[in-house]
Amino acid sequence: MKIFVAGYRGLVGSAIVRRLQSAGFGSQLVLRTRAELDLTDARAVRDFFDAERPTHVYLAAARVGGILANSTFPADFIRDNLLIQTSVIDAAHRSGAEKLLFLGSSCIYPRLAPQPIREDALLTGPLEPTNSAYAIAKIAGLEMVRAYRTQHGMKAISAMPTNLYGPGDNFDLASSHVLPALIRKFVDAKERGDDQVLVWGTGTPRREFLHVDDLADACVYLMDRYDDALPLNIGWGQDVSIRELAETVRDAVGFRGELAFDSSKPDGTPRKLLDVSKMTELGWHASIALQDGVRATVAWYLAHRE
Ligand code: GDP
Repeated sequence: MKIFVAGYRGLVGSAIVRRLQSAGFGSQLVLRTRAELDLTDARAVRDFFDAERPTHVYLAAARVGGILANSTFPADFIRDNLLIQTSVIDAAHRSGAEKLLFLGSSCIYPRLAPQPIREDALLTGPLEPTNSAYAIAKIAGLEMVRAYRTQHGMKAISAMPTNLYGPGDNFDLASSHVLPALIRKFVDAKERGDDQVLVWGTGTPRREFLHVDDLADACVYLMDRYDDALPLNIGWGQDVSIRELAETVRDAVGFRGELAFDSSKPDGTPRKLLDVSKMTELGWHASIALQDGVRATVAWYLAHRE
């Protein structure tokens, strides 16, 4: 077995690498940094696959970002994601890889999909406009996986993680997702002695959060046991409001001030909770509760923020 984790320096890829190392597969990993292999360059990706011939591929490389980054740079999001996933899936097929796992995202579902969102809600309604460029690229990836299965018999599968967080996340306030942004805002506010923290939007949207180590565990589980065209949701199974999330982060950081809401910032989709019953039927469930995961991520941030 030779395992290529594309995007191994990212939040998801690094968690998959940790999971594989702890399962004893460390010596079978093939890893490349972005400087060593530009995954948007189809020629370079083909050459890499021809030379290394990985048997198992985790496609965790993507351009990702929060609500502001997605609505400001939609061209970058659609371009880079289409190029990365097309290059990697096609090269994996041509070089004869045995199995590939593609990671989608919960934002591919229609903005007003019935909650919790089942896998068959895909393509049943209009997308959330703040991240439709990213979502359409990911939907193309799902369709590509399905098409390569049908036409080439490729053992390619797709997983759809909910909102993720954990060590190695992006804590930059302009491009990050809400959870790392709030960790940074509360830590900064506590250190500066501020008396309030500004949370974007109204605080009422609901989101589900999954620790990335749970996602990595699910990915390795599926790589071993699952081979079907149906993409699978991976989530925690319960959601919280952005206000509740902010209170959880505030308590984990130990900030004593107030929350304030900036309703000039977008709320995005009103609710995003995945139906995880298919994963439950397969025998997998997440195990890191939000309070524990947030506490651990705050500790990681304090130790690594330099
Ligand atoms: P989304 O799940 O694709 O909408 O992406 P985000 O994680 O960026 O945002 C989720 C929700 O959190 C939205 O309603 C944001 O307005 C809200 N939010 C509150 N404070 C922040 C913040 O500091 N940063 C970000 N990115 N979102 C925030």
